[in-house]
Amino acid sequence: MRVWVGIDDTDSSKGMCTTYLAVLAMERVERELGKVIGFPRLVRLNPTIPYKTRGNGAVSFLAEVDDVGELVDVVNEVIVEHAMLEDDNTNPGAVFVDEELAVKLKPFAEKAIKDVVMLDEALFIIGKHFIPHLKHKKGRGLIGALAAVGTELNDFTLELIAYRYPERFGTEREYDEESFFDMDFELYPETFDNVDWCNDAVVCIPNTPCPVLYGLRGENVEALHKAMTMVRTEPIDRRMIFITNHATDMHIIDAENLDKVENYHSYRIRGKVVDEPYDIEGGHVFFEIETKFGNIKCAAFEPTKQFRNIVRMLKPGDVVEVYGSMKKDTINLEKLRLVEVAEIYVERNPICPSCGKRMESAGRNQGFRCRKCKTTAKERIEERVERSIEPGFYEVPPSARRHLSKPLIRMDAEKRHIFR
Ligand SMILES: [Zn+2]
Repeated sequence: MRVWVGIDDTDSSKGMCTTYLAVLAMERVERELGKVIGFPRLVRLNPTIPYKTRGNGAVSFLAEVDDVGELVDVVNEVIVEHAMLEDDNTNPGAVFVDEELAVKLKPFAEKAIKDVVMLDEALFIIGKHFIPHLKHKKGRGLIGALAAVGTELNDFTLELIAYRYPERFGTEREYDEESFFDMDFELYPETFDNVDWCNDAVVCIPNTPCPVLYGLRGENVEALHKAMTMVRTEPIDRRMIFITNHATDMHIIDAENLDKVENYHSYRIRGKVVDEPYDIEGGHVFFEIETKFGNIKCAAFEPTKQFRNIVRMLKPGDVVEVYGSMKKDTINLEKLRLVEVAEIYVERNPICPSCGKRMESAGRNQGFRCRKCKTTAKERIEERVERSIEPGFYEVPPSARRHLSKPLIRMDAEKRHIFR
């Protein structure tokens, strides 16, 4: 029989990675029980959820085995041996879902990616369908485990994850930075978001004590295999390609047809810029937009780097469409589309028709005059301010990109201003 295995919440900030644990489980399934079909899936859930885990990612894979009970036992052994059970915030869960039943979990998965799901809802589904499962401690991981099984990936990308030898876990990663840039130079955009040229950073290498050496993002298997041969690093112990919802905007809800927006959700919202954007200490930039939901504050935080320069150029009256997560009643910008650039006028003294210089005031309520040519004028004139920004899409650089956030290079849109 074919069974989807979903696993989540096995890691902590001190170590482990659910993808690695899933790879260990897959190896044991292949060795002892049967086979694994196709690539495993790495599904990122609602990124605004205040509980951890770091990237809020869950894993699933399809196994073909004779006995589900044996499969449950093997996965349990791997969790008990490798999950960070001693960490209070690590509450592993695993589910074993019959292939036919998996499609019924789609609405639940959708909700876990876009909305807020309670553990009770996961337990209710597990109870209703008699789904074999593993619940360690609080079992919060059951939410992600079910979602990873139920997610339908209409749009998807791939991530090739290379793992370190266990004796190196927690030590500094050894790699040749330049080789990652060379790889990007040759393979982009078939591989993407692996380096950040402008901020001189290799972004596909984590700096946590987890087993991951790097996670290369790409559109197809061939490009990722090529990429792997091009980057120079310490020796690799294991590797696996995951099908993911990275870079798909699957978390974004179109606010067009909503009647309210709430914290802990991610939106695309259209609005008109109300005031001049302003900086606060720490380099964070804010502005407000007027929307059908009322005025909403938007933020480009310091890590979004050069994207803030775009935001600073916005003016009252500009029409924008913002993409991002709402937290503390503020949209954390992931990208924006400048729909309409407002025409801005300022009042200035008139220009002398004779010499072309600006006239000066002839005194209170006396109009304006050119002292040299003796020309006069009654009123100030309105002059249009030259805007240095044009309509189109603008995005944060790769180093500030959220897992789920779709980079412009993957979008079929006009006037993309790509930060690579
Ligand atoms: Zn003059």
